[in-house]
Amino acid sequence: MQSKVADLIVILGTGGTIAGKAAQANDNVGYKAGEIGVEALIAGVPGLSTFRLEAQQVAQLDSKDMDFQTWRRLALAVEAQLTRDEVRGVLITHGTDTIEETAYFLHRVLAPRKPVVLTAAMRPATALQLDGPQNMLDAAHLVNDAAAAGVMVCVAGQVYAADQVQKAHSYRVDAFRGRDGTVLAQVEEGQVRWLSQALPGPLAIGTAALPTEGAAWPRIEIVLNHANADGRLVRLLVHEGVEGLVVAGTGNGTLSAALEQALLDAQAAGVQVLRSTRCDGGPVAENGRGLPSAGALSPVKARVELLLRLLGTPPQS
Ligand code: ASP
Repeated sequence: MQSKVADLIVILGTGGTIAGKAAQANDNVGYKAGEIGVEALIAGVPGLSTFRLEAQQVAQLDSKDMDFQTWRRLALAVEAQLTRDEVRGVLITHGTDTIEETAYFLHRVLAPRKPVVLTAAMRPATALQLDGPQNMLDAAHLVNDAAAAGVMVCVAGQVYAADQVQKAHSYRVDAFRGRDGTVLAQVEEGQVRWLSQALPGPLAIGTAALPTEGAAWPRIEIVLNHANADGRLVRLLVHEGVEGLVVAGTGNGTLSAALEQALLDAQAAGVQVLRSTRCDGGPVAENGRGLPSAGALSPVKARVELLLRLLGTPPQS
């Protein structure tokens, strides 16, 4: 019988270190990500038994290998679950490496009102000191919270908005930060303490805008400004048929004269270009020199934005 209240949390597994296994418990880096199924992960978190849960394995990969087909499958799976009345929200287990890209992708494609919370771990499920189970439990409490809405990432007790979250440390358990220093909430012993509000969500692009199963996605690359950047890589990429380029400029998206010229030439040849910054935070202001700014998006999120633009969706205002 269907429950009348939306109290069901659906956990979608995609792999990552949270589902990783090492040969030895004291090995925090020489492990294989994406080994343990989502049902087994849930069984390893006693506190989760107080929630009404369903689980589905959508993928089982190391998120360094995340790909467009998996994104599409995940977006469709999330969308299908959110349309069920009894579903309160969706919790996604993911690798830390690209969680910020997946979160931003889901945010732009689905812009859900119900909570969609991604969580992860920096230590494999076989480690001496585990962060995954606590992160899963915190994420479940977040999904269950009355004020929770939209796509968020919950790790190490901190909750971040999809457009803000970024991995900022390669090893520490507390590896994430908000790009502009913002944290939406903290989860403490099952209580969610809200600190700020996410900005109103964008209009959902919708999964119908995504290429069909197996169809090609636009090719977009990220290039970097640095000392002696000569633009040759851009010219090679244009020659290779790249359709979009994000440039991670220095400072306020500044570019060497040669790289800027190569990008202007690429743009004139029909390649869409967005100018971001390799700095860890802050926006890029328009500079009137012809290459549009990616606003406050990090280079990897600007790439998602450009991807969606090339699929025919209007820029986010
Ligand atoms: N390479 C792993 C992944 O992103 C790292 C992690 O999950 O912490 O899947």
